[in-house]
Amino acid sequence: MGKVLYCFNIIDYDHKDTIVVTTLVFGRNMMDQQAGLLRLGIFATILVVMAMWEAFMPYRPAGGLRNPGRWLTNFGLLLMGAALTRFTIGAAMIAAAILAGQQGWGVINQAENLIGLPEWLSGLIAIVALDCAVYWQHRLTHIVPVFWRFHRVHHCDIEFDVSTAVRFHPFEIVASAIYKSAFVILLGADPWAVVIYESMLSGFALFNHGNVHLPGGFDRLLRRLIVTPDMHRVHHSSLIGETNSNYGNILSVWDRLFVSYVDHTKTNDHDMQIGLEEFRDKRSQSLWSVLWIPFRRS
Ligand SMILES: [Zn+2]
Repeated sequence: MGKVLYCFNIIDYDHKDTIVVTTLVFGRNMMDQQAGLLRLGIFATILVVMAMWEAFMPYRPAGGLRNPGRWLTNFGLLLMGAALTRFTIGAAMIAAAILAGQQGWGVINQAENLIGLPEWLSGLIAIVALDCAVYWQHRLTHIVPVFWRFHRVHHCDIEFDVSTAVRFHPFEIVASAIYKSAFVILLGADPWAVVIYESMLSGFALFNHGNVHLPGGFDRLLRRLIVTPDMHRVHHSSLIGETNSNYGNILSVWDRLFVSYVDHTKTNDHDMQIGLEEFRDKRSQSLWSVLWIPFRRS
């Protein structure tokens, strides 16, 4: 896979021994910086495409236009999360992958040593396994009360559009990076697989939070494989049985396999209420209020 990486120019494989040292000591390195640029480019492109799609063909009435303060909250959280990870553990997943590769740690590295997996296959396994791990991470944030305190910042948005995709408490972003880095070591994922997966993760999050609608037949076909906006909107319903469903981000198979799939909302797409009952007032929606939500008594 060295050749593919060289095409993207995201890692100098000849010097990867020194890269892991700089990653661990300084948290930044050439691969991390260029992978960051690649991810930023993909993220910005999909964000613009989805925002235009929503602006010209909104599925539900465009809530963001009625309440631009919402966007300030959601994109403010994005900037805070990005800043916090930039100065803490932003490079942790790539560092974990490089370290696991060097030490031969993790299931995939062991399998490669034993039976010599083709690189495309080990990459595909890593991406699918990471998606399963993120499904369970998401499900756990709904089950474990302390995790839910932070994750409810994402769910207390009273509208559903592309900006909802970036509405996470900064501490949840950091906790997620730690969890995924630990999983990358257990898995023995290759650094390039991590970069591709992370780019897909943010791209799919923007897509499946879009206030858009795919023609019925096409949505049905697509959601056999991936999570569509119609499928993920159910997860943002105020009805608790629907909030605790459809946890998937990229592949829809995990919700079917682990019995958390709900096909559609009990009401209808246009009348369904989005958000959490306890945080519907305007005061709970400001940037500073949502940052405090995990620490509130109720
Ligand atoms: Zn959730």
